[in-house]
Amino acid sequence: MQGGKKQIFSAADNTGVVLEAKCPRCARKAHVDDDMENVKCASCGYSATYDEYIEVMKGRAVMMADDFQMNWDKNPF
Ligand SMILES: [Zn+2]
Repeated sequence: MQGGKKQIFSAADNTGVVLEAKCPRCARKAHVDDDMENVKCASCGYSATYDEYIEVMKGRAVMMADDFQMNWDKNPF
């Protein structure tokens, strides 16, 4: 256990889904910071604030709808 920050994610931690995002650049898994402020992809080096990431993904959600819907539903914003 590390701090109380993760409490809000406790339910989702069981699935391990919430803190992962799809990288808009390479479509691999990107990592969302615990504080939900930044998104970073270790595969291609993509980095953006979460707000920027959401804006990008909103524009692509139509194309990726089938693939993205699973994570999308679990990321409140
Ligand atoms: Zn990437």
